[in-house]
Formats: sequence, structure tokens, C-alpha cells
Amino acid sequence: MAKRPKGIIVAIDGPAGVGKSTVGRSVAERLGYVFISTGKMYRALAWKALGAGAGLEDEPALVRLALSSKWELDPSGSPEARLKLDGVALDREITDENVAKASSAVSRFAGVRAFMRDMQRSMGAGGGVVMEGRDICTNVFPDAEVKVYLDASPEARAERRVRQLREKGLPADYAAILSFIRARDEQDSGRKNDPLRRSEDGNYIDSTGMDRDQVIEGILKLCAQVMP
Ligand code: C5P
Repeated sequence: MAKRPKGIIVAIDGPAGVGKSTVGRSVAERLGYVFISTGKMYRALAWKALGAGAGLEDEPALVRLALSSKWELDPSGSPEARLKLDGVALDREITDENVAKASSAVSRFAGVRAFMRDMQRSMGAGGGVVMEGRDICTNVFPDAEVKVYLDASPEARAERRVRQLREKGLPADYAAILSFIRARDEQDSGRKNDPLRRSEDGNYIDSTGMDRDQVIEGILKLCAQVMP
């Protein structure tokens, strides 16, 4: 493998709500790398499709929408690359459940996935990046130096989400959250194109009984083993 000029690629995949972003951001911060959440790109397209009234079942229309949009990922944020779509910085507007559900729908299509994959590859190819999603280890960067599948039981993920919401003083319904998590897992693992799955040669971390710092340290250890 050719040496990457800015450092290694750390690829993290896993199901919804497992903490890939929190963990990935911290790992990037500790390594002085850029962090990229690829879910945000699918969410951004879904958000635009919802706003434009484009059908979530209409692959050609979704691909056209992606191609005709201006995508910017500014890596100078620390550590997370800032996503702008048509000049608008997206953050809060893409976090709600409607957008999450729609993002899972638009991400089923091969044409949409090819567009996203090319953009992700061009962002990460030089290295010095922590990228998280559903298919980073299996499809976007199968030759990443560190590949991690981060897992946790649906119940543990729902409990964490309930805790986060309550800490913010927001209402949280455990049963509804659990069923939402299960539905998204099913959709992401059951789709035909680049489904969520473990890569054969990657690392597997079941974080069900672990705290966040243990997961971060575990991934940093894997990085230390391969970093020059
Ligand atoms: O990770 P996040 O919940 O933000 O991702 C939103 C949706 O985008 C996922 O449910 C999944 O359907 C899709 N996605 C994907 N491939 C990725 C990242 C996200 O299909 N690499």
C-alpha cells in the first residue's frame, strides 16, 4: 500500500446510535486528524429532497439532486469537517428523526451511494482522517490501515439515547426509541447496495458493557500498532 502523506485512515462502521461519531471525533482529536461523519452527507441529501418535495423512491431524481447541489466539506474545523450544502452549513436541521428516516431511504440507491463514495474517497484518500458510517470499511476504504466495526445491543443503544435526551431535559420514550433503532438497523443491514455488515478483516468492538473512554482507548491502541 502506498504511504499516505498525512497519516493513516481510520474507518469506523456500525449500527445507528452506537456512538461512532462521539468516539470518532475524540479519536481524531487525539491524533490531530480530520473527522468525517458520512451519515451527515446522506442526511443532507435527504433534507434537501424533503424540502424540494423530491420522491424518496425516485433514484434518478435523487441522483440529479445530488449532482446539481454544491457540496463542501471544510476540513479546517477542529476536528470535524464542516459540511455545507449549497453554501448552507448543516447541523441541527439534519439531526431530527424525520431526516434520519429519510436518509436511510435515500441511501438504498446504488446511484446515490456511488456519488457519496466518490466524494468520501476524495476527502480521505490522503490520510490523516477518521471516517465513520455504514460501509467505510467494506466499500469506501477497504484498504484503510485501521478498520473497526463498533457494535452494541439495540437495548444498550436505546438506553444511552434515553439518557442523553433526559440529560438535556428532553422527553424520551424508551420503547419508541428502541423500535426506531431496530427499524433503521433492519433497513441499513437488509438493503441490496452496500448493506451494513462487518468486514472480514476488520476489528470488532462490542461496546455494550464498555464506557466511551474504553472504546476510544481501544481504537487508539489499534492506531498505534500501525502508525509509523
Ligand atoms: O450515521 P447516521 O445515523 O447519521 O446515518 C444516517 C443514515 O445514512 C443511515 O441510517 C444509513 O442509512 C445512511 N448511511 C449509509 N452509509 C454510510 C453512512 C450513513 O448508508 N456510510
